[in-house]
Amino acid sequence: MPSHTEENYLKTIFKLAEAEPGMEVSTNRIAELLQTKPASVTDMLRRLGEKGLLNYQRYRGVSLTPEGRQLALLTIRKHRLWEVFLVQKLGFAWDEVHDVAEEMEHIQSPLLVRRLDAFLGFPRLDPHGDPIPAEDGGMNRPQLQVLADLAAGATASIVAVKNTAPVFLQHLSKLGLELGTPVTVLDCNAYDQSMLIRIGSSGIERMVSAEVSRNLCVTETY
Ligand SMILES: [Zn+2]
Repeated sequence: MPSHTEENYLKTIFKLAEAEPGMEVSTNRIAELLQTKPASVTDMLRRLGEKGLLNYQRYRGVSLTPEGRQLALLTIRKHRLWEVFLVQKLGFAWDEVHDVAEEMEHIQSPLLVRRLDAFLGFPRLDPHGDPIPAEDGGMNRPQLQVLADLAAGATASIVAVKNTAPVFLQHLSKLGLELGTPVTVLDCNAYDQSMLIRIGSSGIERMVSAEVSRNLCVTETY
């Protein structure tokens, strides 16, 4: 049975590889994300390598083996299902669930996860719009546009967030931006890439920064 730390490593490596396809996952990036020293990362990578969960050679990148990838996806599956549970059944807000789910994702009971999945009605997406991997580890993440890609005049619906930090989610809530919110791009500023958008049918107009528009995934509506 993998330890919490091992699961967190596998998940982090998977996410780094997913975020930057084709790029090598470096020890330093892992250390940064897990807030630990590169030397401890090296030790853990060696251990996970011995267990056949990843390929690691010093001074080269790290990549997951199929077994390591499967374990990472199962941890992500549990994390995202618990997030759905917390929001839908316990009334948590979308900015309150991540840290709790970080703990719940380590519960080792396939039966619990299967029943949780069924209890929730087999959700496909978590409260941040991220896809929930299937039990066999299958997950397809559609290539999503971000708000920043759109031109003035475009209309779209918010479908996911790239950044799940509570401060970012709280900022979005303050702006009135949630998953499913329809938006219209009114103006794009060439100088700082900020955007003027209209939110839904309310007629409310807001300026959003480039940082916001780069982290909001949308599907264009015509
Ligand atoms: Zn989360």
